[in-house]
Formats: sequence, C-alpha cells, structure tokens
Amino acid sequence: MTDPKRAARQPVPARALIPHRLAAAPSAHGMVVPFVTLAHRDRTRPVWGKLDPNRLRETLHRKLCQICGDPLTDRVVLYIRPSDYLRGLTPEPGVHPECGLYSKQACPMLAGRVDRYNPHPPEQLTRCDDPVCDCRRWMAPEPDPRDGRREGQPAEAWYEAWLHLRDYVIVTDPGNDTAAPAVGVDLRPSSRIRRLRKVRDAAPGSEDSQPVDLLAALIAIRVFFGVGGPFQ
Ligand SMILES: [Zn+2]
Ligand SMILES: [Zn+2]
Repeated sequence: MTDPKRAARQPVPARALIPHRLAAAPSAHGMVVPFVTLAHRDRTRPVWGKLDPNRLRETLHRKLCQICGDPLTDRVVLYIRPSDYLRGLTPEPGVHPECGLYSKQACPMLAGRVDRYNPHPPEQLTRCDDPVCDCRRWMAPEPDPRDGRREGQPAEAWYEAWLHLRDYVIVTDPGNDTAAPAVGVDLRPSSRIRRLRKVRDAAPGSEDSQPVDLLAALIAIRVFFGVGGPFQ
C-alpha cells in the first residue's frame, strides 16, 4: 500500500470498514498492514510501499492473500496495470474479495487519492531497537536497469481482475534485453479473467496505454452473451 501519510493532498473518505478477516491484523496510521508489506518485527511499524521479498515469495507460491496472509479461496481478486497485462503476468499476489474491497477503500493508490508512487530513498530503511528484528539485514536492492522504477513515477491506471482459484497459476518470466526477470500470476490466456473493471484512471504524464480497456470491453461483451460468464 502507498504511504497514507503522503496521501493527505486530497480529502480522505470515511475510514474503510475493516472486514472480519482482517480484524486481528496489525495496523498503522489507521490502516491494516498487508501481510506482504516490509515491516519491523513489530508489524505496526511498516515501511509503506515496500514489499518483504521472503513474504512475497511465500505468498505467491502458497497461494496466500497478500493482505491477510490466509490461503486464497475460490474467487481471487487481482489488481493489475496495463503493463502487467501486456507482459502476461502480474507480480502482485491475489487477495480475497473482502480484502480487495478493503484495499480499494484504504490504499491511497487504488482509491485514486495520490498521483505518484512513494519515493523511498534507502535511508528510510532504518533500524529499530529490537535486537532480533530482521531490519538489521535490510538492504536496498540493486535496481535492475531493465526494470522501470515505480518510485516517484506517475500512477498508472489500475484494474480489478477476478479469477477462479483453479486458474491462479504462478509463472516465471526469464526476462529479455528490455525486461527484468519476474515471477507472478499468469494472466494468459485472458479468458481466465472472468471479470475486469477499472479501479482508477492513470495520472497525467503516465506512460499508460489502453489495451486493458479493450479487454474489459471484450469481457463485458462475452459475459453479456453468456459465453464463459463469471465463475461458471
Ligand atoms: Zn526492526
Ligand atoms: Zn485476505
């Protein structure tokens, strides 16, 4: 999730209702700290916008929800960008529908309350006083020059895609001259996406493209004519 402290530019709506599934989850600044977010051992001290690589790997391969950390169930919600669709995989693990509903309200990026990703200089990876906290081993990863850095960039459009759990497949893309290797959820064939709709528009200046809008229209037509409707 994007740093809620940086999202004060626009009025924040009434606080998102925390679903039962997230009632016991750690929170900070009034928001649930997602399972995959990098945090000190005291998880009420997250590094907003940074993912914990070990938790991310576990979440993808064990098919867990990236918000609550519980196993995904029949209906899986993904949040994807046009660039994910073009690549055919999304690095963002899926979520339960109720955890997704919460994220759409609480996450400043998905809710459209911010137009840029958090800039996170390495000095923000500070150590805490807990002697057994993993923060002593935190290091800013070497950026892959083929990887577009999100930090400080204008927000892309985000879409909500619904899949059945049986279509939730983790794949590895070895990368090429222009794209860094990536692991994520397979988005191909697009027929596995049962429902798709836009969650937020791209910010001005984003190198956004519109193929996902076309896909959303195609899926809407397919559902309208009763071909492969949601979760059949
Ligand atoms: Zn720590
Ligand atoms: Zn969940």
